[in-house]
Amino acid sequence: MAEIESSRKPHAIMISFHLQGHIIPFVNLAIKLASKGVTVTFVHLEFIHHQIIKSQYDSTQVDFFSEARNSGLDIHYTTISDGFPVEFDRSRNLDQYGKSFLLDFPTLVDEFVGKILHSHSSSSYNYFLVADTLCVWTAKIARKYHIVNVSFWTEPALVFSLYYHLDLLRKNGHVPANGLQENINYIPGIQSINTKDFMSYLQGPESTIIHTIIFIGFEEVKSADFIICNTVQELEAEAVLALKENQPFYAIGPICPTDFSTNTVPRSLLSESDCTEWLKTKSPGSVLYVSFGSLAKTDEHVILEIAEGLFLSEVNFLWVLRPGIVSYDDDDEILTVGFKNRIKDQGLIVPWCNQNLVLSNPAIGGFLTHCGWNSILESIWWRVPMICYPLFTDQITNRKLVVDDWKIGINLCDGLSISREEVAEKIKILMGGGKSNGIKEEMNRAREIMQTALNGSSERNFDQFLKDLTAKFLKK
Ligand code: UDP
Repeated sequence: MAEIESSRKPHAIMISFHLQGHIIPFVNLAIKLASKGVTVTFVHLEFIHHQIIKSQYDSTQVDFFSEARNSGLDIHYTTISDGFPVEFDRSRNLDQYGKSFLLDFPTLVDEFVGKILHSHSSSSYNYFLVADTLCVWTAKIARKYHIVNVSFWTEPALVFSLYYHLDLLRKNGHVPANGLQENINYIPGIQSINTKDFMSYLQGPESTIIHTIIFIGFEEVKSADFIICNTVQELEAEAVLALKENQPFYAIGPICPTDFSTNTVPRSLLSESDCTEWLKTKSPGSVLYVSFGSLAKTDEHVILEIAEGLFLSEVNFLWVLRPGIVSYDDDDEILTVGFKNRIKDQGLIVPWCNQNLVLSNPAIGGFLTHCGWNSILESIWWRVPMICYPLFTDQITNRKLVVDDWKIGINLCDGLSISREEVAEKIKILMGGGKSNGIKEEMNRAREIMQTALNGSSERNFDQFLKDLTAKFLKK
């Protein structure tokens, strides 16, 4: 029996979560699994598939993995409906969408997985599910079909630990934090963290559908067979070690193409502006890149103070001002024509770009970031020091890692409010060398650690995960 079982090829069914910051590492994970000899069925939600096509220059490429397959990887690509028409506005109807994601979508996934498992070729494979930790359906479906359940966490181990120990935090009265500013040291693997650095979803009342999805996700993950995390073991050693005590947990990050920028699979939800020509006109290290990622929203006041602060600093800047960052309606006009005329060639403002291409450009000397986890990993890879302005979710906690623990960035605001004067001052500090010299050294150190991990601990952890997975197939 064992021999027959082990002659079956491992086959990952990967149903992707629908947010940009989750799609990117998930695609990279699919490529990585396939490059290790795993067959992969990669599944996007239909609306994501359409949005990616819309954003591409070459909209004829509808099988996103065809190039990867041509290079010898065994990846099949398909889509699944989330139960809503493609054109349904999910952001504006977040509550309705979230409820359906929680209650109705699991049935669609169940049917989908059932069909794959009952297909004619199913006897040649050992199937397993790989899903984002926020996919609330994984454990139940894996149990129903007796297949291995692999949970993929796209954020740091620190954030995972806090959600994982939610009961403990609640028992101690630290969640919801409700404005508390207390240092705590009882979470395994976390020496000390102030409650103000908790993720936004642990700060206030547990009132939204997103809270429910996250908290259910973290109940369900406790029955996952394996958890793989897009972090670097040496950067979060204690947190990773403590999590391993509970469940098989593997730090395999940064999960990325070999040089971070080679990219054969379309994955961008917005069209990328080409900034290369403008960057060519700027001297090395002179440009501050500014982006708040794919999801976060902020007030018009914040955007205006940042704009004026950039202008006052006299530093060159490339700003990704994503449509919808202030309201759901396209708000390209937050910055007036007057402002745009005033900055002349000091700044370039675009709706979206290829961030890795920008960060790798020698003209870039700093990154004003919202502290999305992918952005942090990419910034470390390209040795670009950061100015941090976290807006919500894990960004708040990620800031602590960047500024307080690793010392590879500074805060944009030291107080609660934002002012153009402070923005200008912080930009000058980061971009002017001087006081920020220590940051550059720490950044070089972090990058060294990351690079070593790529062919070291992360690779070994990935191989160990595959070995343990194979052993698990034999037991199933
Ligand atoms: N990104 C990009 N172009 C942009 C802004 C962001 O390609 O103009 C990419 C970025 O490289 C990163 C991802 O989008 O991989 C954003 O993920 P992150 O975790 O940083 O933030 P989120 O969008 O999830 O808040």
